[in-house]
Amino acid sequence: MMPPEFGATPWGRAWGRTVEPTSMARPNPLLPRARTLARNTTTVVVAGVGHVEAEVTVSGQVCRVRIDLPLWPDETQAEAGRLIAGAMAEHRGLVAGDLPDTLEVDLTQHAISIAVPPEARRGECTCRARTRPCVHILATIYALAQLVDERPALAVELRSTPTKTTVTADPGWVALSDLDPAGFYGD
Ligand SMILES: [Zn+2]
Repeated sequence: MMPPEFGATPWGRAWGRTVEPTSMARPNPLLPRARTLARNTTTVVVAGVGHVEAEVTVSGQVCRVRIDLPLWPDETQAEAGRLIAGAMAEHRGLVAGDLPDTLEVDLTQHAISIAVPPEARRGECTCRARTRPCVHILATIYALAQLVDERPALAVELRSTPTKTTVTADPGWVALSDLDPAGFYGD
């Protein structure tokens, strides 16, 4: 079972499930080690539009990991943008980078996947292990799940072009721009 430190929010859980799918008959034996590396020696260097890069230190050696993620198709990005705008308007006052849990439900109901399943992502690592994904790639996904827990907006940023689907850094700005001026200044 996935420890809650890798999936404290539905957003991080979506990513955690891609390494620990509930349907998996036999858990990947690399997972406990991957979690230890994620906790202790994995540094995510870049997490942004369509890719993640990390450095995982093992016995003094640094393994460099890069994982490429497909962006949502344009129509999906547009749809996600509408759902996000609606959800943010209903949940004002969230801290910057947070997203309402209801949005995760909305996206799922619209068949918009938050996380990228293993078969759809491409992971590279500088290690010599023959297994792919290697333990360092798995550690990177766990570390990514933690980052997404800390800042759910990252889950959207990973899958979209900033100009098409925007999660504003400051939800207060959206709230203000959405307000009907009459209602805002009235009463
Ligand atoms: Zn590796």
